[in-house]
Amino acid sequence: MKTQITAIAALLFAANVIAADHSHESHSSHAESAHANHQHDAHDHDHDHDHDHDHHDGEMLHFEGHTHGLGELALMQDQQQVMLSLTIPSESLWGFEHAPQNDEQRAVIDRTLKQLTAGHRFFSFNAAAACTPVSVEVLKPEGLNNPDASHMDVTANWLWQCQQAEQLQQLQTSLFKHYPRIEKLQTQVLLQSGSHGGELTAKQPQLEW
Ligand SMILES: [Zn+2]
Repeated sequence: MKTQITAIAALLFAANVIAADHSHESHSSHAESAHANHQHDAHDHDHDHDHDHDHHDGEMLHFEGHTHGLGELALMQDQQQVMLSLTIPSESLWGFEHAPQNDEQRAVIDRTLKQLTAGHRFFSFNAAAACTPVSVEVLKPEGLNNPDASHMDVTANWLWQCQQAEQLQQLQTSLFKHYPRIEKLQTQVLLQSGSHGGELTAKQPQLEW
C-alpha cells in the first residue's frame, strides 16, 4: 500500500501543484525550494542551531525549520484515491523534540505514533463522497535516536478510497481535540476539479469548498 501512496504523491507532486504554493513543497524540488529548510535543514547542523533563530511571533514559536503549533495538511485526489498528508512538528504532538530520555518519553512517542497509524479516525469527509480508509504511512522523525537532534517533524499519509470522490466538498478533523498543542493546520486541497486552500483550527476544524 505504501507504493500506492507514493504513486499518488509522485503523480501530484510531479504535476507541481503543490510546489506552486508557498505553503508546501514537493519532494522532488525541496532542495532548490525557498523552503528547503523546512524538514531537513535541522539535520544539516549539529550544534546550537536551535538557539540562534528562535523568536516569538504572536503565540507560536518559529524555528529555522518549522513553527510550533503549525502543521501542513494536504488533501490530494487521484481518481477514487484520496490522500491526506500531514507534516507537523513533533513538539505539537508529544510536547518535546529531543530523543526520548526515559521510558515515559519513549512510551509517549510510541503511543502517539500508534495513534497516527490508526489516524484515519481523526478525519471525516462529507458522506456523499463515500470514502473508506485504505492504508497509512507514518514517517518517524529522523532525529528520534540522535541525542543532538531537535525540531523534528512527523509526517503521516493516510489513504482513502472514495467511490464518489468528485463529491468531495468537506473535510473535518478532530486532531485539535487529541493534540491540543496543535493550533493551526495550513491546508491545501488538490482535487482533479481544482485546488483550494484554507486553515483548520480548533475553533474551525472544518473546511468546505
Ligand atoms: Zn521545533
